[in-house]
Amino acid sequence: MTNEQIWQAVLGEIEISLSRANFVTWFKDTFISSLENEKVIICVPNAFVKKWLEEKYHKNIISALENTTKQKIKEIIYKVELRHNNGNVFSNNSINTNKQENDKTAFAEKIKTVNIVARTNTSNRHGLNPRYVFENFVVGRGNELAHAACLAVVENLGKSYNPLFIYGGVGLGKTHLLQAIGNAVAKKTDKILYATSEKFTNNYIQSVKSGKAKEFKNLYRNVDLLLVDDVQFMGGKDGTQEEFFHTFNELQQNDRQIVLTSDRPPKSIPAIENRLISRFESGMVADVGKPDLETKIAILEKKALEKNYPLSKEILNYVAERVQNNIRELEGALTKIIVSHQFKGLTPDLKSVKEVLSDYISSVQTRSLNPKEIIEATAKFYNLSYKDLISKGRKKELVWPRQIAVYLIREEIGTSYPSIGIELGGRDHTTAMHSYNKIKQEITGDKNEKIKQEINSIRQIFNTGY
Ligand code: ADP
Ligand code: MG
Repeated sequence: MTNEQIWQAVLGEIEISLSRANFVTWFKDTFISSLENEKVIICVPNAFVKKWLEEKYHKNIISALENTTKQKIKEIIYKVELRHNNGNVFSNNSINTNKQENDKTAFAEKIKTVNIVARTNTSNRHGLNPRYVFENFVVGRGNELAHAACLAVVENLGKSYNPLFIYGGVGLGKTHLLQAIGNAVAKKTDKILYATSEKFTNNYIQSVKSGKAKEFKNLYRNVDLLLVDDVQFMGGKDGTQEEFFHTFNELQQNDRQIVLTSDRPPKSIPAIENRLISRFESGMVADVGKPDLETKIAILEKKALEKNYPLSKEILNYVAERVQNNIRELEGALTKIIVSHQFKGLTPDLKSVKEVLSDYISSVQTRSLNPKEIIEATAKFYNLSYKDLISKGRKKELVWPRQIAVYLIREEIGTSYPSIGIELGGRDHTTAMHSYNKIKQEITGDKNEKIKQEINSIRQIFNTGY
C-alpha cells in the first residue's frame, strides 16, 4: 500500500466515528508524508488542526493506523505542511499569511495606529469597544493559537470553527480578541451582537417578566455573529442555560458564528449542563496563557506609543520583568508611570520609574511563580507525584521529567543551580546544570517539536492551573 492508500483507509475508519462537520474540519488537507520504522509523520494544514489532532484524535489515529498497516505505531509526529502537488496550494495557510500581514501592517503603521485608534471607551452600536482591534493586539507566546483561531473565524464566518471557545485567566486578552472579531466582522455585516453572559441573563429575565420572550429570541437568534463574554457566569442559572442552549443550536445549525470566552475550559465551569459543555467543545477550544517577557515588552511598548509616551528599552524591560500576572496590570503600571511623571513634570528614567512602581509592584505581586509550583506542574504532566520527582530514584521515567523541571525552573525563574539542586531533593549543582544543558540541547535537536510541546503543556499547567 502507498502512504496515500493507507491514509485513505485510516480516514475511512475515523470518519465513521465522527460527525461530517468535525471530520472535514479536522482531517481536510491532511496526509502522511512518511511512515518508517513504526514512526509516522502526518502533515496538517495549520497549527490548530495540529493541536486538535494531538489532543483529541491521537488515539483514534494510532488505532486506525495500526489496524490498517497491521503493525505497531510507536510515534506520530504532526507537522504543519501543505501538499505541494496538483497545484493545490490555494489554502496556503491563510492563517499564517494573515498573521504576517497583520504584523507587517501593525509595524509599518505603528505611528499611524497610535493616532487612528480612537482612545474612547464608548462602545459602538454593536456594543463593541472600537479600541479592541486586531491591529493593536500583540501576538506572542500564550495567545498565538487563540489569535490564529480568531482570524480564521473572521475569514470564514460560521464555517471554520463554530463555536470558537476562548478561555484563560483574567486580563490576558480574551475580551480584546472577542471584540476584535466583532470589529473586524462589522466591516462585512451589521448583524452582530456582543453580550456578556450577565447581559444575556438579564435580557432574558427581563424579557420573560415583561412578556417579550419573542423579541428576545428575535434579537439573539437573528445574527450572523454572536459574541458572548465570560460564559462561566451562566453556571448555576438553569433558565438562562436552557435559553442559551436553544439560541446556540439555532445559530449553529444555520452556520451563524458563535464565539465564547470563559475563565476556564468548558468542562471546568461549575454547575453547567452537560449538553452545553458538549456544545462548547464541538468547535474549536483555544486557550490564552500568560505572556512571556518578550511579549510583555512588546505590549508595553505598543501601549506607551498609543499614549504618545515612548519609554526607553531599559524602562520597558524593567516594568515587564516585574509585572507578572497579566496585561491589565501591565497597563496599570504604565498609567501610573505616566500620571505621576506628568504630575511632577519629570521625564522618566529607571530610577524614577523604580520609585513610582515600588508600592504598585509589591501590591500587584501577590503571586509569583516558585520552583515548587513548577515541580508540581511537571509531575502532574507526567502523571508522577511531587515526591517521585524529588526522590533519589534514577529510573528513566523519573530522570527525564526531573530534567525538564530543572530546565523550566531555570528558564522561568532564573533560580541558581545550587538552589535548583536543593529544590529537587538535595542534588548537586553540577547535576542541575547538566540537566539544564541537556534539555536545552535537545530542544535544538531534530526531535525538538515533541519536547517543545511537552514543555509548553507544562507551562500551561503552572500558568493557568490546567
Ligand atoms: P480578559 O478579557 O482576558 O480579562 P482583556 O481582553 O480585558 O482581558 O485584556 C486586558 C487589557 O489588556 C485590555 O486593555 C487589552 O487591550 C490588553 N491586552 C491583553 N492582551 C493584549 C495583547 N496581546 N496586546 C495588546 N493588548 C492586550
Ligand atoms: Mg474579559
